[in-house]
Amino acid sequence: MNFLEERIVKDGIVREGNVLKVDSFLNHQMDISLFEQMGEEFKRRFADKPINKILTIEASGIGIACIAAKYFNAPVVFAKKSKSINIEGEMYVAEVESFTHKCKNQVIVSKKFLNEGDHVLIIDDFLANGCALQGLISIVNSAGATVEGIGIAIEKGFQAGGSVIRNLGYQLESLAIVESMDAATGKITFREQ
Ligand code: 5GP
Repeated sequence: MNFLEERIVKDGIVREGNVLKVDSFLNHQMDISLFEQMGEEFKRRFADKPINKILTIEASGIGIACIAAKYFNAPVVFAKKSKSINIEGEMYVAEVESFTHKCKNQVIVSKKFLNEGDHVLIIDDFLANGCALQGLISIVNSAGATVEGIGIAIEKGFQAGGSVIRNLGYQLESLAIVESMDAATGKITFREQ
């Protein structure tokens, strides 16, 4: 097991409905030493890519992206969840369905902060069905920028997102891929990488 898998086994909690709670170290209280290890590992996996910008989505991707950004020497842009409608023109817009909250959000990025010629690493905390990532990818495409790779902390390998995104041809690197988890026993197994 790698450092993140060990931490998930130690402090993660499996909930009914295929939800893994990691709020004691990843997405509510945040362990910055762990984030630094994750940032270093993302840098190792994307070392050959000319990344000049990191894109994530609020809220829980932001902390991970900011620490990772230190290793890439790149600014972080986060897509904002927005209810307003009168924003086309200045903003790239995508629709994203939330796995945990079961609602649809428009996510927006200002055209000022993403341009043709940008080489983007997308980062997020979880990959489940892939809606969040598809929204971010469509925003990068709208800007005429390039997705150089996608870095995820925890992929739930038993949900469709990972294979959908890999089949589109992107380099998707998940630091931990949960193969199965059981809410009754709390047992979590990981895919060998
Ligand atoms: P997707 O769009 O891939 O279906 O879901 C990704 C988003 O849903 C992530 O940004 C994350 O915030 C949230 N999410 C999905 N599955 C889980 C989970 O098992 N636990 C937690 N804490 N968040 C999740």
